[in-house]
Amino acid sequence: MSLQAARGRELKPPLRPVPNRPALASPLRETNKVTSIAAAYSRAALRFPVNPETRAFYRRFYPGTSTLDWNDWRWQLRTRIRTLDELARIFRLSEDERSAVERHEGSLPVGITPYYASLMGLDDASEPLRRTHIMTGQEYIRGPGEADDPLDEDHDTVVPGLVHRYPDRVLFLTTGTCSTYCRYCTRARVVGNPGGEYQFSTRQWEKALAYLQAHTEVRDVLLSGGDPLTIGDDKLDWLLTRLRAIKHIEFLRIGTKIPVVLPQRITKDFAKMLKKHHPLWMSLHVTHPVELTDEVTESTARLADAGIPLGSQTVLLKDINDCPRVMVPLMQGLLKRRVKPYYLYQCDPIRGSAHFRASVERGLEIITALRGHTTGYATPMFCIDAPGGGGKIQLAPDPVVGRDGDDLLLRNFEGKVYRYPDPGGTLGRDKQRLAAE
Ligand code: SF4
Repeated sequence: MSLQAARGRELKPPLRPVPNRPALASPLRETNKVTSIAAAYSRAALRFPVNPETRAFYRRFYPGTSTLDWNDWRWQLRTRIRTLDELARIFRLSEDERSAVERHEGSLPVGITPYYASLMGLDDASEPLRRTHIMTGQEYIRGPGEADDPLDEDHDTVVPGLVHRYPDRVLFLTTGTCSTYCRYCTRARVVGNPGGEYQFSTRQWEKALAYLQAHTEVRDVLLSGGDPLTIGDDKLDWLLTRLRAIKHIEFLRIGTKIPVVLPQRITKDFAKMLKKHHPLWMSLHVTHPVELTDEVTESTARLADAGIPLGSQTVLLKDINDCPRVMVPLMQGLLKRRVKPYYLYQCDPIRGSAHFRASVERGLEIITALRGHTTGYATPMFCIDAPGGGGKIQLAPDPVVGRDGDDLLLRNFEGKVYRYPDPGGTLGRDKQRLAAE
């Protein structure tokens, strides 16, 4: 039996004649051969790099776990750190963290893949990645302007799980499950509901598909959630096939954090499945250069090799990544991995997120530090998603200094002022007037 048949795949006609193989002596030997081929396949499929720090971590905290298990994304998902006891077994928790976890109820529980935990500071509660995933008491303080649904997505929800805000594109919330739960999540209200992680059913998807079929103005579907890559290969393949069958949908996108927090999910078969659904783009949620491990180099390479254009989205987070020393290597590291830095977001004002929000000026300083100092490809768009459903508003450092007659005065990345001949133009005139007043 061939390898494909052992994997339950359809055989394609061979391109060249295949020489007859000698018959096996007994059916038992054939069975053994199939089993060993399947085992070899499964070992090959789970082959994935393991960086040295992560290997030391799993030997210490998951003794007896084989590399095969560690590299199996389903094992990682099943073994997520979800309880106070599990956290305390691995991390030296501060009193603040301990009591915040104890107090928590409802959606957005603790959830960390063992792999992602291996990148975190075990003894230091202020370590950046740990701060984004282990709750603290500040999460229970509601700041001014904060809301459970700050972007008013519920208002633009046309059928459950489908947000239609912009004319030609929709947001399709496919699942409420994530492999890890970020404490600043915009959809904190819906992800990881206790007992209801899988509440987004295929029946619900059917309603969304019927809406999309009927709305011919929709060209672009962004699959998000939760994290669509937590969905099994077959089910996701089914959904993408159904979406592809809708003629007016030109373009599919997936928003995901999994290639960064559970890179083992990107198996070669999975990448091959995605490749069937082009044009398919992917936005990866990344936070900090510590995340850019050998494993992430592999997951992004597999996706890029499958022809999927990769972009990144990063939330600007106070004392986590809000300085050029962190953001510049992050953006450059992404580019090296064929991920185009796409969005830098000001943190949405969800309830209890004040401790994560850096000032807007900080974001502009970072863009200034990137512009001109490194390739333009490494510079993301800095955006605020306007509270109340106003959509994304891009912010950029203003280069216009003013005007001198027909000359427009512009500041470059080094702060030097240059003249550009712009006869008849008016841009910059107001600035001069305001400066004079
Ligand atoms: S992975 Fe995305 S959807 Fe899930 S908790 Fe983090 S920000 Fe929210």
